Amino acid sequence: MAVPRPATINGPDSAPPSARTTANGDARVTPMMEQYLEIKAANPDGLLFYRMGDFYELFFEDAETASRALGIMLTRRGKHLGQDIPMCGVPVERADEYLHRLIALGHRVAVCEQLEDPAEARKRGSKSVVRRDVVRLVTSGTLTEDSLLDARRNNYLLAVARARLSTAGEDARFALAWIDISTGEFRIAECERTSLAAEIARLDPGEIIVSDALYGDTEFVPLWRSLPAVTPLTRDVFDGATAERRLTSFFAVATSDAFGALTRLELTAAAACVTYVERTQIGKRPPLSPPIRENAGIAMAIDQATRANLELMRTLAGERRGSLLDTVDRTVTSAGSRLLAQRLSAPLTDAAAINLRLDAVATFVDDSAARAETRSRLAAVPDLARALARLAVGRGGPRDLAAIRDGLNGAADLARALGTLTDAPAEIAEALRDCHRPDGMLAAELSAALAAELPAFRRDGGFVREGYDAALDETRALRDESRRVIAALQARYADETGVRALKIRHNNVLGYFVEVTAQHGEKLLAAPLNATFIHRQTLAGQVRFTTTELGELEAKIASAADRALGIELDIFERLVARVLADTDAIKACAEALARLDVAGALAHLAAERAYARPQVDDSLSFVIDGGRHAVVEQALARDGTPFVANDCDLSPPGDEQSGRIWLITGPNMAGKSTFLRQNALIAILAQTGSFVPAQAAHVGIVDRLFSRVGAADDLARGRSTFMVEMVETAAILNQAGPRALVILDEIGRGTATFDGLSIAWATIEHLHDVNRCRALFATHFHELTALAGRLGRLHNATVRVKEWQGEVVFLHEVVAGAADRSYGIHVAQLAGLPAGVIGRARTVLATLEAEDRGASRGFEDLPLFAAPPRSLQPAQDDRYAPVTGALAALNPDEMSPREAMEALYRLKEQLAKAEKN
Ligand code: ADP
Repeated sequence: MAVPRPATINGPDSAPPSARTTANGDARVTPMMEQYLEIKAANPDGLLFYRMGDFYELFFEDAETASRALGIMLTRRGKHLGQDIPMCGVPVERADEYLHRLIALGHRVAVCEQLEDPAEARKRGSKSVVRRDVVRLVTSGTLTEDSLLDARRNNYLLAVARARLSTAGEDARFALAWIDISTGEFRIAECERTSLAAEIARLDPGEIIVSDALYGDTEFVPLWRSLPAVTPLTRDVFDGATAERRLTSFFAVATSDAFGALTRLELTAAAACVTYVERTQIGKRPPLSPPIRENAGIAMAIDQATRANLELMRTLAGERRGSLLDTVDRTVTSAGSRLLAQRLSAPLTDAAAINLRLDAVATFVDDSAARAETRSRLAAVPDLARALARLAVGRGGPRDLAAIRDGLNGAADLARALGTLTDAPAEIAEALRDCHRPDGMLAAELSAALAAELPAFRRDGGFVREGYDAALDETRALRDESRRVIAALQARYADETGVRALKIRHNNVLGYFVEVTAQHGEKLLAAPLNATFIHRQTLAGQVRFTTTELGELEAKIASAADRALGIELDIFERLVARVLADTDAIKACAEALARLDVAGALAHLAAERAYARPQVDDSLSFVIDGGRHAVVEQALARDGTPFVANDCDLSPPGDEQSGRIWLITGPNMAGKSTFLRQNALIAILAQTGSFVPAQAAHVGIVDRLFSRVGAADDLARGRSTFMVEMVETAAILNQAGPRALVILDEIGRGTATFDGLSIAWATIEHLHDVNRCRALFATHFHELTALAGRLGRLHNATVRVKEWQGEVVFLHEVVAGAADRSYGIHVAQLAGLPAGVIGRARTVLATLEAEDRGASRGFEDLPLFAAPPRSLQPAQDDRYAPVTGALAALNPDEMSPREAMEALYRLKEQLAKAEKN
């Protein structure tokens, strides 16, 4: 994959003039090349698509880059400073496809169009060049075309602004502003350094913009490097002093008070977004909604590792298929699918808001007729928001107008059909009202104006319905009449010349011409016919002529066609203006449709897969009866295998205010991970406002969710597996509060047995005594089950297996108690290890177990039980003071993995020294 070079979209003043100087310094530069170099110098970042007729051409280094990236032929065109100019081109009608590939590879493209008809330029003299300029910068975060976007995903542009620190040692604060220009959504939030990566992961933006300074800050380099498209911008874009002015002028409002109370930092991020939109869209305004502030804590905090691990939006392999989203998505519109994705990636923490959503789902669960009606109507509704955005930025076509027409009609019809839903819950009632908001006459006007069959581009013409505009009809009649005259002319010429095969044809080079086969050519070239037929062209098999009469007719047709197209384009502009005048209402209507789709889809899912409405409140309960794993259940169902439902209860015992920890032991493959994850997914679904795969569920709001798996590989980021495991565990132990839900799977597996066991041991104690949160901990160290004797809120559970005729049968049933053995050899056998190896392993195991018993070292005798593990007490022994001192001075949140590793080694050295003393 090509590594994109860092790019800056500079203001007009800062464009480096070097290329231009070169151009002027060389007398042999053609006027066209001079224009090219000038435009390129003003747009140095990214590739320049330079329009020449039916192609976008690329020159010099751009041509080399693009030909490599796209696998297209590199040619030469003329010379510059004595050197051949490398060139390659893409046809205009396939430009989207090439843009898509270049953007996906991390490039950005400046699209330079011809701004006048070549005929206009010729009027200024034979040497003059067609006026051209860049009309748009295409970047991954600012796309609007359906062909460049995934219909089911939002494509966010995210600006990250950092506050300058007033006092040293104070933690930096950040503001995030994100927009989807293809739908107009615009949001702002502040966030802490510690949650920055998690917020970025939640939004999963198509492009991130940051200031040069933040981009180059060594602390952040690893983060930027781990993300797909980060664009550094000059300081003026992130200038706090001008931020408010830039933002208010974009929205044409007097003060930013209109957007609520925003901090200066938030204004800075928001202004960076609109400035970038202005610079990339060049004069075109996407229909951005005014920025809405997202208050901290309204969504469940889920960090990047947890998202990845639970495969919320995509699987660990990076695919949508097999993710939670994919499994539960029953939406029938792209807008609905985008909204569901948004909701799933940010489950709410406000029980009342969640219950409003659940009420809407419940209505559609109970009323299956209304559900079916809603879904079948929605399925026919086009993507209103994206059509509207394209029209607003001048990239819309007749089909986008049709989409608005069909969307508005669909919404109004749906609202009427659902009008029978008496006492619909607030969420539905409000959506139905919004369906009626757009101007009722607009859809009617569009219906009257648009033809039945619509071309893809407005320049193709023919999209205005006959009978809509009298002047247009008249011009069209003239044009069509002339065409009939041409047909008559052909017949007459055939008669007059006696050449029956004579044809009148048309092409873009010659226009209309008379064509006869070579054998008849002589006749027309000789007197008397040559007085009428003027020779134009001789091809291998044909000879082509024109006549004065044909020329005149052609001029008439062309002007009629031109006039007709002109009228159509005027009508198009008028209709677009009408649509845009109603932007807010159309957007509200589009959002309402998406909300209805999500409610209907979640209801459909609930009915189809027997999900139950969760009880969601502000308690600390977590009681799941007969819970299932949403994804595994559906995967197993495809093979006809039933999923074994399991209960879980992490609620605080008695009137305590701290959650329970379940310690789950059991052999590999028994279903421990599945059980852990299913409970995390149930919490997410419940707080998203979805029914859940369980018989019943009571979920007290979870404010933070952590999920970790021991020894997951993260070599790409240069961390050892065990290091990753420990860094992530540290994050949990430092951050999880009483409302958190923590899922730890096989922590401590990545190191030697005793090390691992000790770490797991201490981790559980910390969770129990310090974090006091609800937690599930799966492990194959059955020694840990002994902890239940001492930790009051620790509950042992195990996944049952049955031995039957020497084979292990996994029952996938979670029951109270502890596993007695790990059955590793059975799993190895299942996996197909050779019989010899299995036999030998059994012998070795028997010997080891005998020795263990012989040494009679029960775990109760280990220092693990003797040590006072209550809380983080400083070591009393003075010898260790240097070590504990050094440890206390460390701040893991501010360390790079490498620094952490080095610190660990240093500590070990100090410890070894202390031991010697
Ligand atoms: P462990 O974490 O104990 O090694 P997993 O959770 O990975 O085990 O489960 C192993 C396999 O067992 C899964 O891929 C799944 O197909 C099956 N499985 C797990 N739990 C269940 C269940 N409750 N019902 C049916 N099959 C299950």
